[in-house]
Amino acid sequence: MNALPKLIFELSREGKIGCGLKEADVPAAIAIDAGQLRREPADLPQVSEVEVVRHYMALARLNYSVDAGFYPLGSCTMKYNPKINEKLAACDDLQAHPYAPHDLVQGNLEIMARLEEWLVELTGLAGFTLAPAAGAHGEFTGMLIVRKYLEEKGDARRVVLIPDSAHGTNPASAHFAGYEVREIASNERGTIGLDELRPHLAPDVAALMMTNPNTLGIFESDITAIAEALHANGSLLYMDGANLNALLGVVRPGDLGVDVMHINLHKTFATPHGGGGPGSGPVGVAERLLPYLPVPRVRRAGTGFEVVYDDPRSIGRVKNFYGHFLVIVRALAYLMALGRENVGRVAADAVLNANYVRKRLEGILDLPYKAPTLHEVVFSDNGLPVKTLDIAKRLLDYGFHPFTIYFPLIVHGAMMIEPTESESKETLDEFIAVMETILREARENPELLRQAPTTTPVRRLDETLAARKPMLRWRKGEST
Ligand SMILES: *Cc1c(COP(=O)(O)O)cnc(C)c1O
Repeated sequence: MNALPKLIFELSREGKIGCGLKEADVPAAIAIDAGQLRREPADLPQVSEVEVVRHYMALARLNYSVDAGFYPLGSCTMKYNPKINEKLAACDDLQAHPYAPHDLVQGNLEIMARLEEWLVELTGLAGFTLAPAAGAHGEFTGMLIVRKYLEEKGDARRVVLIPDSAHGTNPASAHFAGYEVREIASNERGTIGLDELRPHLAPDVAALMMTNPNTLGIFESDITAIAEALHANGSLLYMDGANLNALLGVVRPGDLGVDVMHINLHKTFATPHGGGGPGSGPVGVAERLLPYLPVPRVRRAGTGFEVVYDDPRSIGRVKNFYGHFLVIVRALAYLMALGRENVGRVAADAVLNANYVRKRLEGILDLPYKAPTLHEVVFSDNGLPVKTLDIAKRLLDYGFHPFTIYFPLIVHGAMMIEPTESESKETLDEFIAVMETILREARENPELLRQAPTTTPVRRLDETLAARKPMLRWRKGEST
């Protein structure tokens, strides 16, 4: 990477041009009133075609992506997105107007119905909505379903319980759905057992939102007993299934007593994410919650498919039209390419890769929670002469995207590593070798890490300022 590339603004020279327009051989159709013309000409850069191409290539190379390299961002599941998915999502025959009459878009409706059927089979739940636009939106939708179900039973409740290891979106979603959030402290294993749950299980508890495997990558092994205790209390079990990677094709949350869950198509189901692109967070529910799913709902009708727009008990719409249809296409393509018989290998390989990284790094990094690791492993910076941030920044110098840092909050200086199933042993070995080098540097020359990164176009930024007041455009005379 090194220095920032030269941008076209700096390459501009009077008279350079990158295109040639012929003299018009037709009369000018519209005469623009001189008063409406801009007073000064726009200060556009004057560059040749090749300079324009290099400008955009240089900008594109500044992006890091799964296609560019290893991206072990824990909890985010940055797995490879097979290109066949893109090809199908770009297929002309699938591009339809959302108001197109249903008899003209039966194939599109079938795609949605079939993805829902796959999700039902993989999770053991009774039905799914594909409408929510992301994981957090799925959580919010799920909590609205919980609320409406309880209110209709005449048993509106106020409280939602959430473990202290949860993703920050969980409390936010519960709060926006009108609930008061109470935090449950995890036990020394890093999970929630009946002992942790019981003191909180009051009559006003609507639900527990539990992530499984949790954000430490540990399976919540008491989940069935917890589901029973919740149900006996008239409460529901919500499962954050954003990280279904570890369970896919092996464990069905519905069989464990889960009532509502969301999954992230843009994580587990290999559709692109990051950079704010469209995601998808389908929500699945147990049988008794089916009537509350959002509309519209696509369903099989005879040999074809129909769309239900008004369902009297539905929570209503949560998204315009059907959700992010082309993300749905990609997820179905991913599942069909794997086939039912290979889906379980996703989980097996994801868990194997995370355990390989764990075993190789466990001797040189502190591992605060030692329960078996599923799809990700969380180390701590305890006992190191540098901080997690320094290690993350040094990884940039070696060309790797850092892992997730400082999350979950219950681990001091957390380093949350999720390799996913897409990576080869060779890539993992390279990453591990770099981590070994960095930890040696930390002991011998910690200053080197505190100065990192040194090879990137910008060094350490004031991250708060960068997030709040990002510099998104080039300004004349301002240095970058
Ligand atoms: C990613 C994630 C979410 C939120 O998903 P978004 O699509 O980013 O809204 C929620 N919970 C967990 C555990 C996650 O990893």
